[in-house]
Amino acid sequence: MNYPLTLAQMLEHAHRIHGDKCVQTVLPNGEMHRYTYAALYERVKSLANAITELGIQRGDRVATYASNTYQHLELYYAIPCIGAVLHPLNIRLSAVQLAQIVHEAEDKLIFVDGAFSEQFGDLRNKIGCKRIVRFNLMPADTDTSYEQLLGEAEPTYTWDIQDENWAMGLCYTSGTQGEPRGVLYTHRSMFLHTLAVNQADVFGLTEADVVLPLVPMFHAMAWGLPYACMFAGADMVLPGPKPTCLADLIAENDITVAAGVPTVWAKAYPDLQRRRQDISSLRRVIVGGEAMPSTLIEAYEKELGVEVCHAWGMTEMSPTGTCSKLRGTHQNLSDAKKWDIKAKQGRPVPGVELRLAAEASTSFTELPWDGETVGEVQVRSPWTASRYYKSEPTTEHFTADGWLRTGDLATIDAEGYMQIVDRAKALIRSGGESISSIALETALLKHPRVLEAAVIGVPDEKWGERPLAVVVLTPVGAECNTRNGFSLFPDQIPNRTEEALRGQLAAEFPKFWIPDRFVFVDEIPKTSVGKSDKRAILGMFVSTGNSDLP
Ligand code: ADP
Repeated sequence: MNYPLTLAQMLEHAHRIHGDKCVQTVLPNGEMHRYTYAALYERVKSLANAITELGIQRGDRVATYASNTYQHLELYYAIPCIGAVLHPLNIRLSAVQLAQIVHEAEDKLIFVDGAFSEQFGDLRNKIGCKRIVRFNLMPADTDTSYEQLLGEAEPTYTWDIQDENWAMGLCYTSGTQGEPRGVLYTHRSMFLHTLAVNQADVFGLTEADVVLPLVPMFHAMAWGLPYACMFAGADMVLPGPKPTCLADLIAENDITVAAGVPTVWAKAYPDLQRRRQDISSLRRVIVGGEAMPSTLIEAYEKELGVEVCHAWGMTEMSPTGTCSKLRGTHQNLSDAKKWDIKAKQGRPVPGVELRLAAEASTSFTELPWDGETVGEVQVRSPWTASRYYKSEPTTEHFTADGWLRTGDLATIDAEGYMQIVDRAKALIRSGGESISSIALETALLKHPRVLEAAVIGVPDEKWGERPLAVVVLTPVGAECNTRNGFSLFPDQIPNRTEEALRGQLAAEFPKFWIPDRFVFVDEIPKTSVGKSDKRAILGMFVSTGNSDLP
């Protein structure tokens, strides 16, 4: 059969087979909204009619300005299922950036969470008279009410996606390197991505899971979880617009799987460790977006008994590309070796092809998978973009034979485990040699006094660039006193931390890798999706053209 791979088929399956499963959302007042897939399905149908009645047609872009809530989940289905294109806006970008994105996408309608009314005001002033619909409406709001629209709409709708290659979603990269770029997904690509991530050796979600997606629904389609969860039939808990205590959320809702960037897990660790007993339902955390240091993997696996599923991907890949799981043959390895393997970005998800290309070479030269040779990772798969939105593929991002140039530099070993060394643009070039910022950061994080670390290259007259380490120290006494590598013993904390850090790096790396300067700060600037913002860090030191430090 030529069976169409569409989100409407996925929604129908979720409703018919898992109609009694639950979606819960933490409301702005702290209360929990709770309903079943069946109730969600009814509302999605009304919403489909309401959006159609607002004049939205096939292919039109419809934006959302919201966090992880049930209304956003309804929009994740209703917009694509009528043939329109879901465009989640990253609410943490500046109004100027977002205005450009809305302009390029030509969004016809924007759904806004009233919890963000104030910050949305800035954007609204810049985008002219777009049609706005709000949920969580405040009494003074004059926009169209989401609930009123739903209440007035017909509750029946016949899906009519005629081609699985119709666009279903548009997501912009978070702009860690350069300006955000749009990526368009199709029903087919998202359907296949959903099947791929639900495999046992990838996210491995099951009907029995209760999943907490902490990754925002505006970041790389929340890693596909809104679709993966409902296709698998897992219960979902959505954290809503206000920050909540992670340990409480896990404990009170028997969360089994949670997904977020490494910063989230680093911050939450001390609290989760204190409340080990309360969070015993948690079996797996899905981590990606940035490298998860092996020390943190060890802390979660050994101390909390939580499996770490370390994944790598890009907005351009829907976003999942690789996942680091141990092979059967690894079971007898020492713990330290196991965690080192899991700290790699892992093996390609079935369906994804990887290759390693010689950097800066105009013609393609494939490099060996020997775990040592560093090259640029190139990718192709049924869920990888072949161009950016509204632009022709350029050789900067796509090869002549149709592979995506990820801009990530990595090694791949004989077993197929990829290890990211750096983003090509972040690699530090000193005296003609390369220095990996990720390797230095990982090593720094092994020191008990280091809570967070970011290494950047600052311009240097003699060497071109030299590494500079920016470090957040763990407050004395707040270190985790465990037996593993993440642990420390306060009486052994060296007084001269910088010296100790230099010593630690010197044991692992050549002399020229050791950062010239260490700067201790209270906080490392983060991007809109919680990654270390290296451009902002560099700006702290070289904005006036003077790389001298405070
Ligand atoms: P942006 O490019 O704006 O940051 P994305 O969120 O799509 O937007 O970022 C994709 C990039 O994030 C990848 O190319 C890679 O550099 C980085 N990345 C994602 N996951 C990992 C990981 N597990 N380890 C290291 N880097 C990662």
